[in-house]
Amino acid sequence: MNPLVIPRPEHPISRSMIDEEALKVLYRLHRHGFTSYLVGGSVRDLLLGKVPKDFDIATNAHPHEISALFKNSRAIGRRFRLIHIFFKDRKIIEVSTFRSRSEFEETQNEEGETIRADSFGTPREDAFRRDITINGLFYNIADFSIIDYVGGMADLQRKIIRTIGDPDERFQQDPVRMIRVIRHATRTGFSIDDRTYQAILWRREEIKKCSPSRLRDEFLRDLKDGAAKPSLSLILRTDLLLSLFPGLDRVFGDRNPYKDRDREVFLTLFGLVDELVKIGRPVLDYILFALFLTPALKVLTPEHPFLGEKEQHFYRAQTMRLVIRDILTPFSVPKGTKEMTSLILLAQPYLKKAIDRGIIPRRMRTKKYFEEAVLLFGLKARAKGEEVPRLLRNAVPSDLLPWWPQRPKKRRRRSSWRSVLLRRT
Ligand code: ATP
Ligand code: MG
Repeated sequence: MNPLVIPRPEHPISRSMIDEEALKVLYRLHRHGFTSYLVGGSVRDLLLGKVPKDFDIATNAHPHEISALFKNSRAIGRRFRLIHIFFKDRKIIEVSTFRSRSEFEETQNEEGETIRADSFGTPREDAFRRDITINGLFYNIADFSIIDYVGGMADLQRKIIRTIGDPDERFQQDPVRMIRVIRHATRTGFSIDDRTYQAILWRREEIKKCSPSRLRDEFLRDLKDGAAKPSLSLILRTDLLLSLFPGLDRVFGDRNPYKDRDREVFLTLFGLVDELVKIGRPVLDYILFALFLTPALKVLTPEHPFLGEKEQHFYRAQTMRLVIRDILTPFSVPKGTKEMTSLILLAQPYLKKAIDRGIIPRRMRTKKYFEEAVLLFGLKARAKGEEVPRLLRNAVPSDLLPWWPQRPKKRRRRSSWRSVLLRRT
């Protein structure tokens, strides 16, 4: 079947919207007789009137041919060789050869042998191996047209997120796509096609089969995207979250009589993260993990009924560490990040104690994670609609949390010459 080709006058993408260096790469490949298309997220974003994060290119040139054309390039990837072309200011344009399968798909042949996903393919195959229809569009530098094999233009117009091909099959091949569907739906505000949504409900348990590092990366992208709250809300509603983190069943599942309240707090916290992202504040991974774990720690680390104050802290610290380890297991979180997550979470009861006593001990203020611990404290307070005590606000830079009232700058009284002279006499 021939693709739908939308000629230049009938679509809004002009060359002035495309990154200068990406255009150079597209043209150079084209001049040397290769097919060269702008692909994936960049075409989608340009059609949506957004500025793309990156400009990926696909071509029929093989990796060695691409490398030969661009001196400033390097091959990456173990299985499927992609070429990164480097420009000034650390800009990278990624060029890949059309391929027939996604790098994460492992299919088996009739003898039960695993077929590797590194075979080159046609443009058509390359479109069909992609995840959702609006990500499967090509912009052709030869005549500036858009090539649509997968019905992406119609779905963009109807505002629908739909997998390419049968959703059930596509999620089985690579369950990470379920998370990607949710991210793209919440990011664009589009609705998820009914069959795609049903397939998520049906296949959600398969998410466990994904590699922990890919899961972590895709999940963190959800949380940092500025749409963490709607994403998590959908991940909760589809029960994907509990399939991913069985340890959270006691927090967000039916066993917790306060699950609705705890879900609400959880989503409110990530709504605040979205506000921070929108004003351009980077939110570090361990703050995100700490927020993610906050409702769980509240439910799963109750106080010990028979311990005194000191032992209580020790006991809580121990159980908190166990819960953190248990819940973050599906994610292969780097050791340093996990440690920082634990430290800022463990600091919370101490911050509370400091506030009650009206003094922040020096050994607490000088800890390397002090500011992050206060940030977490402030976010939790904000989520509950509470004020953060002045004692804590005064101990950190005044712009740590945008919602805190700015401290008036201290004005140093300059002594006038007159008073200096008077003092001398
Ligand atoms: P973003 O704007 O967040 O970068 P993106 O759509 O560009 O979104 P990437 O992760 O950069 O997402 O992937 C680039 C392209 O690769 C996608 O547009 C999609 O076509 C394809 N892709 C990514 N992940 C998968 C997957 N798991 N299965 C199939 N195709 C995928
Ligand atoms: Mg991208």
